[in-house]
Amino acid sequence: MKVIKNYVNGQLVSPVFDKYIENIDPSRGKVYSMIPDSTAEDVELAVEAAEKAFPVWSSWSKEKRSDVMLKVAQLIEQRLDIFAEAESLDNGKPLSLAKSVDIPRAVSNFKFFATAILHFASESHYMESEGFNYTTRKPIGIVGCISPWNLPLYLFTWKIAPALAAGNCVIAKPSEITPMTAFMLSEICIEAGMPAGVLNILHGLGHKVGDAMTRHRKIKAISFTGGTKTGEMISSIAAPMFKKLSLELGGKNPNIIFADCDFDDALSTTMRSSFANQGQICLCGSRIFIERPIYEKFKAAFVEKTKNSLVSYPTDPKAKLGAVVSESHMQKILAYVQLAKEEGGTILTGGERVLLEGEYKDGYYLKPTIIEGLSYNCRVNQEEIFGPVVTITPFDTEEEALMMANSTQYGLAATVWTTNLKKAHRVADNLQSGIVWINSWLVRDLRTPFGGVKASGVGREGGFEALRFFTETKNVFVKS
Ligand code: NAD
Repeated sequence: MKVIKNYVNGQLVSPVFDKYIENIDPSRGKVYSMIPDSTAEDVELAVEAAEKAFPVWSSWSKEKRSDVMLKVAQLIEQRLDIFAEAESLDNGKPLSLAKSVDIPRAVSNFKFFATAILHFASESHYMESEGFNYTTRKPIGIVGCISPWNLPLYLFTWKIAPALAAGNCVIAKPSEITPMTAFMLSEICIEAGMPAGVLNILHGLGHKVGDAMTRHRKIKAISFTGGTKTGEMISSIAAPMFKKLSLELGGKNPNIIFADCDFDDALSTTMRSSFANQGQICLCGSRIFIERPIYEKFKAAFVEKTKNSLVSYPTDPKAKLGAVVSESHMQKILAYVQLAKEEGGTILTGGERVLLEGEYKDGYYLKPTIIEGLSYNCRVNQEEIFGPVVTITPFDTEEEALMMANSTQYGLAATVWTTNLKKAHRVADNLQSGIVWINSWLVRDLRTPFGGVKASGVGREGGFEALRFFTETKNVFVKS
């Protein structure tokens, strides 16, 4: 059985106490590897290594840092198939998705920030007759990056790459539920010639090693992506120490579909925005509001298409949905389906487990599920489910759609479907959301600010926003 190691001071090492936890393949419901159960002692070693590496790494020219990062990108790209297979096995997602989205995006993250840093300039503000100000942006020092399981390498590299490019040394923790590709990344960093201690990857449980990272005084910033509750815990510890914090948290995203939309485009994109990655993307639209004149037509077509979406083992090329990430997550999703029934909802399709045969008989598969008849403010429509479960609700006016869309504590992403340009802009403007897609979904330009409002997070990732987060700003005034 494969045993994953920590990556500390440029080497693959066992955790200090040599304790391990099980890593489960969700497509078979079986343990298939072991991962370090790291503790505060491992964090200490990683901090020591990062402390030693920082003066060197931060004084390298940005071109030299960029070269190492481009080498990492190149090596992942060369092994795209192996990485995609590992990601799909670890997470349960269809192999085709890992191949076309997850791993290519991890490569792009490294390429993007390795080159963005070459163009990252600071400002100068001239004051007539008084003098001028210039601004410097220097790396923070040692920073912590903590990421979730839904897009494992994709989100891990989305944090690490800008932190490294800006000249920081990083202590990073992938989710204990999907650690494999982060481990493979450590092997690649060694091969690419990343200096020892610049990037340290620790595996293990959030409340142990993640908590120890958050509490360590020498880790000056935490970039976190995960659940809102965890984000709250992290900020309660890190904020009193005045750490810089970037928090990308949960969502309950609305899709607003107006009667004047391009029906076929709205329908096929809504299939993806509802069920891609088994609905386990923070940007998935889980509350679908449909203008009444097309409600019945949309509902019929959507239910029909959903019924025909094949749920299968991840390597099945025909699979539209694979396994959800864990047994406990599957049970949580099923509990929400039960709650929907208790709250008066009707399950139009799905709502139950799919039992495959043979070696996949114990895997965690769920039918994609559509529910109608729920009030906009019931628990199922307010709480994040993070699975292949959506609700559909009719609306009569733009005001009503906006009121329902904005009614949750979250505000990450939203989608608006209409061919009326004025209405599209107006609705986008009035949505309480960090990201709005008009007539599309999940189109990502890495230069754009990424993040949510309200309980969906604090701060923005992406482009120069990320490089600003991972640097300290100083303004210097010079009298003329
Ligand atoms: P989670 O909060 O349980 O875990 C995320 C990471 O935090 C993991 O690495 C975990 O080990 C670690 N962690 C857990 N407890 C910790 C603690 N006390 N201290 C420090 N670290 C701790 O989230 P998850 O279940 O892995 O991911 C799903 C959640 O992530 C969903 O809510 C989803 O919406 C959110 N998410 C948000 C975005 C975004 O960009 N806003 C992107 C992807 C996922």
